[in-house]
Amino acid sequence: MKKSILNRLEGISGDLYCKTDMEDRLCYSYDSGYISRIPDAVLFPANTDEISQILKLANREKFSVIPRGAGTGMTGGSVPLSDGGIVLSLLRLKNIKKIDTDNFISVVEPGVVTGVFHREVEKLKLFYPPDPSSSNFCTLGGNAAECAGGPHAVKYGVTKDYVLGLEVVLPTGEIIHTGVQTAKGVVGYDLTKLIVGSEGTLGVITELTLKLLPLPPSVSTMTAMFDSVDAAACAVSEIIRQGVIPRTIEYMDRASIKCVERFLDSGIVEKAEALLIIEVDGTVRQTKEDMLNLKELCFDQKAVFVETAKSKAEVEKLWKARKSISSSLFCYGPDKINEDIVVPRNRIPDMVKKIEELKDKSGLYLVSFGHAGDGNIHFNIMLDKTDKTAFKKAELIIDELFDYTVRLGGSISGEHGIGITKLPFITKEINSVELDLMKKIKTLFDPNNILNPGKIFPY
Ligand SMILES: Cc1cc2nc3c(=O)[nH]c(=O)nc-3n(C[C@H](O)[C@H](O)[C@H](O)COP(=O)(O)OP(=O)(O)OC[C@H]3O[C@@H](n4cnc5c(N)ncnc54)[C@H](O)[C@@H]3O)c2cc1C
Repeated sequence: MKKSILNRLEGISGDLYCKTDMEDRLCYSYDSGYISRIPDAVLFPANTDEISQILKLANREKFSVIPRGAGTGMTGGSVPLSDGGIVLSLLRLKNIKKIDTDNFISVVEPGVVTGVFHREVEKLKLFYPPDPSSSNFCTLGGNAAECAGGPHAVKYGVTKDYVLGLEVVLPTGEIIHTGVQTAKGVVGYDLTKLIVGSEGTLGVITELTLKLLPLPPSVSTMTAMFDSVDAAACAVSEIIRQGVIPRTIEYMDRASIKCVERFLDSGIVEKAEALLIIEVDGTVRQTKEDMLNLKELCFDQKAVFVETAKSKAEVEKLWKARKSISSSLFCYGPDKINEDIVVPRNRIPDMVKKIEELKDKSGLYLVSFGHAGDGNIHFNIMLDKTDKTAFKKAELIIDELFDYTVRLGGSISGEHGIGITKLPFITKEINSVELDLMKKIKTLFDPNNILNPGKIFPY
C-alpha cells in the first residue's frame, strides 16, 4: 500500500490507532480457522464517522477493508486475501449505550464482548439468549455479521432473532439505519435481516439494537452418558419428537470427552462413548417436571448414566468443559479443519452414523461435538496441514460429508458461515440463479468490491 494512503489513514484514526509494524500486522493475520494472510495495516477507529471516512478513502483509492471483531470466526472471514488491504478492528467501539428495562431492548456498539453483555443484562434480570461457546471473547458485531448461534439456539433461536435494528456504514462510506426500536415494524425491505449473516461483506455494523427477554427464574442442568454415539443421537431426536424443548442439548463424542474429562467428575466417563449436556429453564415447578421427564426419556433411550448438577459450581464446571473442547482438540494435531453442518433433527442419527463411517474409512483423526438439539454437529479433522496427503484426504471427506448433509435436507453451515474456507462448496447448496442474485446485491452495496472481497462467493 502506498505511503501516501497510509498517511491519510493515520490522519483519520491518529497514528496510535494505525498499526503498520510487522508484529502488529501479524497478530491480525488469522482468525480461529487455518488460513492466514498479513494485512498492509490495522486500523482501530474510534467511531462511526472515522469508519465512514476510511471507507470513502478505500473507494477512491481502491484498497480492501476487512472488518474484524475478536477474530474468533472459524472460516477466515476476518482474514485479508492476498492483495493485503487493511483490517478494520471494531474493538474500540465497546459501549453498552442503553439497556431499556421497560421495552426489553438494548442499544450497543459492535465491539462489546458477548459474555460481558450477558452479565450486564442479567444484573437487571434480563436475558440475551444468543450464546456462542466463544462468548467470553467474541463480539456482538461479529455475532451479527455471522448470525451466530450457540447452545441456547435449540429453544431460543439465533442472533438474527434478536437484532431489531442496525447502524451500518456502507462500503461507499454512507451511513444507514435499518429496522426499528420497537417490538415490530414492516416498513420497506428488511435490510436488517439481509445484513445480519452477511459476513462483513455488505457494510460495517457500528451499532445494534437488540431484543431482550425476561431472565428465566430457574435453570436445571444434567449430563447423560451413552455407550454408543447412535444411542445418544437417537435420544436427541426422541427428546425433540416428544415436544420437550430444553434450552440446550449439547453432544460430545468419545474423543471430545477424552479432551475435557478432567472437568467431568462422574467417574463413568471412561466407559462413555457419547455424552449429552441437557439444560432446561422456566419456573421452578416446570424445570423440576422437565428434568424428571428427560431423565426417564434418556434411560428409555439406553443412557448408562444420568446425573443432575447439584450446584452452580458444578454447572459452571460442566460448561467450562463444553466450552474448552474446541481449543483442547489441538492435543490431537497441530491444525484443525472445522465444519459445522446442520441436519433436520430427526436425521441426527443418520449423520452421526455417517461420521463414524468416515472416521473408519479415512484413517484421519475426526472429532465431533456440537449443538445436537438443533441438528448442528461440529465435525473436526485434526491434522498437520503441511501433510499434503492428509490434507487431500480431508478435502475428499468434507466433500462427501457436505453431499450427504444436503441429501438429508441439511445445510453446510449452521453458524460459522462460508468465509474463505467453505467457498468451493457453496454451490452444493445454492444454485446459480440464487448465487447470481446474491452477487448482484453485493455489487449494489459495494460497486468497487472493497469490503471484505473474495468472501462467500468468488468473483
Ligand atoms: C472456541 C470457539 C467456540 C465457538 N462457538 C461458536 C458457537 O457456539 N456458535 C457460533 O455461532 N460460533 C461459534 N464460534 C465462532 C465465532 O466465535 C463466531 O462466528 C463469532 O460470532 C465471531 O465473532 P468475532 O467477534 O470473533 O468476529 P470475527 O471473527 O472478528 O469476524 C467474523 C466475521 O464478521 C465480520 N465482522 C466482525 N465484526 C463486524 C462488524 N462490526 N461489522 C461487519 N462485519 C463484521 C468479519 O469481517 C468476519 O467476516 C466459536 C469460535 C471459537 C473459537
